[in-house]
Amino acid sequence: MSERAEGSKKEGKGKKPHKNKPTSKKWSKYKIEGDKTIKILKSCPRCGSGIFLANHKDRVTCGKCKYTEFVKK
Ligand SMILES: [Zn+2]
Repeated sequence: MSERAEGSKKEGKGKKPHKNKPTSKKWSKYKIEGDKTIKILKSCPRCGSGIFLANHKDRVTCGKCKYTEFVKK
């Protein structure tokens, strides 16, 4: 038995022109110097490496678990 959930799938009409959507910026979290990659952003202590903390003005937050760390200046 196969059940598919594609009830409201529309194609063609109602298409919005999408603006330049930035691709994954995961690369920008690393700085490449010579043959070394330096991690710029901190990774989440809860989610582990791979999940980066987003930079804010005075804090960094994890978008996944909402972990927040305040940054001293
Ligand atoms: Zn996290």
